[in-house]
Amino acid sequence: MNSENQMIPYKIYLEENEMPTHYYNLRADMEKKPAPLLHPGTCKPLTFDDMKPIFCEELIKQELDEDTRFIPIPQEIRDFYKMYRPSPLVRAYCLEERIGTPAKIYYKFEGNNTSGSHKLNSAIAQAYFAKKQGLKGVTTETGAGQWGTALSMACSYFELDCKVYMVKVSYEQKPFRREVMRTYGASVTPSPSDTTNIGRKILEEHPGTTGSLGCAISEAVEVATSSEGYRYVLGSVLNQVLLHQSIIGLEAKSAMDKYDIKPDMIIGAAGGGSNLGGLIAPFMGEKLRGEADYQIIAVEPASCPSFTRGKYAYDFADTGRICPLSKMYTLGSDYIPAPNHAGGLRYHGMSTTLSELYDQGMMEARAVNQTEVFEAAEEFARVEGILPAPESAHAIKVAIDEAKKCKETGEEKTILFGLTGTGYFDLVAYQKYNDGIMEDYIPTDEEIRESLSHLPVIE
Ligand SMILES: *Cc1c(COP(=O)(O)O)cnc(C)c1O
Repeated sequence: MNSENQMIPYKIYLEENEMPTHYYNLRADMEKKPAPLLHPGTCKPLTFDDMKPIFCEELIKQELDEDTRFIPIPQEIRDFYKMYRPSPLVRAYCLEERIGTPAKIYYKFEGNNTSGSHKLNSAIAQAYFAKKQGLKGVTTETGAGQWGTALSMACSYFELDCKVYMVKVSYEQKPFRREVMRTYGASVTPSPSDTTNIGRKILEEHPGTTGSLGCAISEAVEVATSSEGYRYVLGSVLNQVLLHQSIIGLEAKSAMDKYDIKPDMIIGAAGGGSNLGGLIAPFMGEKLRGEADYQIIAVEPASCPSFTRGKYAYDFADTGRICPLSKMYTLGSDYIPAPNHAGGLRYHGMSTTLSELYDQGMMEARAVNQTEVFEAAEEFARVEGILPAPESAHAIKVAIDEAKKCKETGEEKTILFGLTGTGYFDLVAYQKYNDGIMEDYIPTDEEIRESLSHLPVIE
């Protein structure tokens, strides 16, 4: 290590008084705003009143607010954050050395809480606003289980009931995730289920289906809108979720500013876009205001390539087509991705904010195969100590690729990536990889064309 490197600690933590007091609303700095959500019946922009039966009121205000730059974080939420935040910003000295790169690699680690991912940042905010509204409980869907776990923790903290619809394939593959949720008091139902109209319909049309996030969303929304005192909450995609996740980027930027570090490149895994949207928020804000430039890369699985092979169009958020329409990079709401092991990245669509920024050319995207993702995960785990979630390992893969490019060119780029969580519940996937029986699934153009042919026609 050279002397300049020694000045930068291995882990940069913020002091409690340096923690963000406000969320940052990236949309306020976008000249061209993300397209509005549309009512699935009338195709008119959704109003506060349209959303009231589905979502919590304060969260709807946040969803619709595209002008307020900074939104205060209520003290109760900040008190909860103190239990596991600030999250460390780590200089990956060991990984750099192993690769032999002149690049400087940093990662913001969000796996230091029982839910094991960044999802708790938004779960606690959403549970707080539900409680404040006097609700009895909330419903949601979960894919790989991280969001359901985070929401269960948040609901138990604020004494709210929590009903989770879990994509069937994950429910069966990850029984221990389910037990964590039940330990925190949530009820967990495999989706599609016979407990809802839409679930029964999907089961009838696709018997033996292993489910998808789109199906589970439809079920959770149906239960929320038909039960007194319940609302639906969502762990990704929505603007409000990106807003809550801005805490990741705000902390990362403060920590970097403290040591005068400027990333050249910011990399994150993109499922629905919440961690990436949060990580890049303050940096993208500078980029939008013309104050600085950063290369921003979204990484998605080749089996569910919304950005790289999808279409920027209005689409349904769910298979049951009861949710609002949003304009996003989508593979079509009927798209059921092959069962890959990064469950958190299997959604057919993408955040409207990131979709608009991608369309404006403000960020790039790459699709990677799962075997190369696990190779990167192990390379990382062996030197940096942390067992990464398969979702997070998508970002690791591209960070390593970029660091290797720097080795060839001799460029000393500074790379920041989001390490969104840990992979202790993903050991079946690691087992498959270690046994050499993991496969890569890449949809054919025909499959994607077919599911895109069912996009709704908006007048
Ligand atoms: C859910 C999840 C993701 C992807 O979701 P985004 O909303 O795109 O952030 C990434 N990493 C982990 C660990 C997750 O749990």
